[in-house]
Amino acid sequence: MAAQVQEKIQLQELLRRHPADIAEVLVTLKEEEAVELLRRLYLRRAAAAPLGEMDPEEAARLLAELNREEAIHILSHMDPDDAVDLLLELPEETVRDLLSRLETRKAQMFRALLAYPPDTAGGLMSPEVLALPAHLTAQQAIEEIRRRAEELETVYYAYVVDEEKKLLGVLSLRDLVLARPETPIGAIMNREVVTLPAEMDVEEVAQLFDKYNYLALPVVDKDGHLLGIVTVDDVMDVMREEATEDLLRMSGIPSGEEAALSPPLTSVKFRLPWMMGYILLDLLVVYAVSLFEHTIAQAAVLAAFMPLIADMSGNVAAQALSVAIRGMATGEVGWRDLPRVVRKELLVGCLNGLALGAQLGLIAFLLRGNPFLGLVAAVALAGNTLVATVMGGVLPFLFKRLRVDPAMVSGPVATTLADLTGFFLFLGLGALFLRYLQ
Ligand code: ATP
Ligand code: MG
Repeated sequence: MAAQVQEKIQLQELLRRHPADIAEVLVTLKEEEAVELLRRLYLRRAAAAPLGEMDPEEAARLLAELNREEAIHILSHMDPDDAVDLLLELPEETVRDLLSRLETRKAQMFRALLAYPPDTAGGLMSPEVLALPAHLTAQQAIEEIRRRAEELETVYYAYVVDEEKKLLGVLSLRDLVLARPETPIGAIMNREVVTLPAEMDVEEVAQLFDKYNYLALPVVDKDGHLLGIVTVDDVMDVMREEATEDLLRMSGIPSGEEAALSPPLTSVKFRLPWMMGYILLDLLVVYAVSLFEHTIAQAAVLAAFMPLIADMSGNVAAQALSVAIRGMATGEVGWRDLPRVVRKELLVGCLNGLALGAQLGLIAFLLRGNPFLGLVAAVALAGNTLVATVMGGVLPFLFKRLRVDPAMVSGPVATTLADLTGFFLFLGLGALFLRYLQ
């Protein structure tokens, strides 16, 4: 009995918190406990908002544990854009079944939204947008907002449309409140509207939000009909996800699907195949080195420096690669900038190569007292650095052009090419000066 009372109090406390906080609690619980809590929230009509705040994949996993009736009720109370993100994570039959049981109007709305690819403005938008006819007065517009506030995704902006729902202009809440009450909104609206075409890629959407700093932007079709709005919070989610994905992919984790606490076997599944592929790629380097087995056997000192050269190509390529991938993700650079990127990285590679080569050459000379060893190491590292820099900076553009994930493959390929250059120079020159190295 006491335990039940205790639980009730805890639930009450939880219900007072922000849905995002409740979502956080749901994520930290074990699956059965989370489902149990979700049921309790559902009984209090409070399950929709927290699910909307969760990662859609995790939200979908929880929702799938509820029965159909519960799931449908929750879905129909979520913001449509969040609900659709969640539906996208469920198996197709489940989605079909859920949609067939939903209220017709909602089901139609969800179907329309599901038709847009998730990585476009249409896939991000909520159709619950405030669209007003131009003849309304400021006073009437405010009353309309008051009446519909509950169902609207956001009320920061009112969009003015004609009879066919073509977008004519926009007003902010401030514009409305400050206008004289009897002024028609068509007379005070802002006619130069920044819009998002429904098929615009989310990366470009994020760039527009970054540029114009509006809290929401309207989505239109090809003929300028208002379809919905994208709000800044959705865009922040996208930007975070894209940044994480790029980061993970650059370290060889495909499509950012692995989380810190993913089950070990899931992690193995994501990581291992790529690493097995990278080994095959690295066999090229093994082959190159094996051509010089004789040289290495004669001057074992060469072997001591080889790991350094291999390591440095990875480090150097990673620097150029991060800059390129980041630049591509933010839209700062694209395919047309390739010549400029090549010129820049060539120069950077030469300068850094010279400096690093000089540093290593000097150290090798001082350590071993052999100027030839210093020279061989210096030239090898300089060449290695040049190739790693240029390849790290340029390959992402080429792979993106070829529609191969640039973050996943550029690093290993750049490193391998740099290793090949470095080892050919190092061991080739080593063979040339063998007499002086023994
Ligand atoms: P506050 O800054 O205090 O929140 P505000 O009225 O200045 O209120 P902003 O978000 O800064 O609101 O918007 C400034 C202006 O931009 C408003 O007059 C609004 O009509 C206009 N506006 C809003 N959305 C768009 C858009 N998509 N394209 C063009 N103009 C827009
Ligand atoms: Mg302002």
